[in-house]
Amino acid sequence: MITIKDKTFVPFITAEAIQTRIQELAEQINQAYAGKTPLMVVVLNGAFLFAADLAKQLTIPCEITFLRVSSYKGTESTGQLKEILGLTESVAGRDLIVVEDIVDTGKTLGDIRDQLQAQSPASLAIATLLFKPEALRNPIDLQYVGFEIENKFVLGYGLDYDGLGRNTPDILVLE
Ligand code: 5GP
Repeated sequence: MITIKDKTFVPFITAEAIQTRIQELAEQINQAYAGKTPLMVVVLNGAFLFAADLAKQLTIPCEITFLRVSSYKGTESTGQLKEILGLTESVAGRDLIVVEDIVDTGKTLGDIRDQLQAQSPASLAIATLLFKPEALRNPIDLQYVGFEIENKFVLGYGLDYDGLGRNTPDILVLE
């Protein structure tokens, strides 16, 4: 159990279960990308631990790069868009695997996907550790999903509450 500020979090997914599932996802990726050299595009900050553990289980050659998203940009008329920041590599012609911590409404990954697709990658797949199907508002194809979870706030293993709690080997859930 962890208390951060006003909130208490209880055990949810153990470190062991996370690592077992990551091994399974890595095996799928190793098979799907045999003969290719994908570019892992890691969405900071939340996906840093997932991406590190996934990358260590990949036996195919791969490159790794990182991006952040801005808070929402745009006006009422243009719609709100999360803008990609910090991606210096060209993704044109590359086989991209976007690595995210959690898909909630799907807005963030939808915006990232659209902006990457506009740069003409050879392919684009998404690997997310967690997915909340009940919260999804923007349809999105997810090729690699670690765990489908209930629509509850989770913490740990990269995911924060107010900047804190990212550094646990387990995932916890709000009590
Ligand atoms: P979406 O755009 O899919 O609604 O939200 C995705 C982002 O919201 C994630 O990358 C993450 O930063 C944050 N988020 C969504 N659900 C949770 C949650 O249960 N716990 C934490 N810590 N962050 C979440």
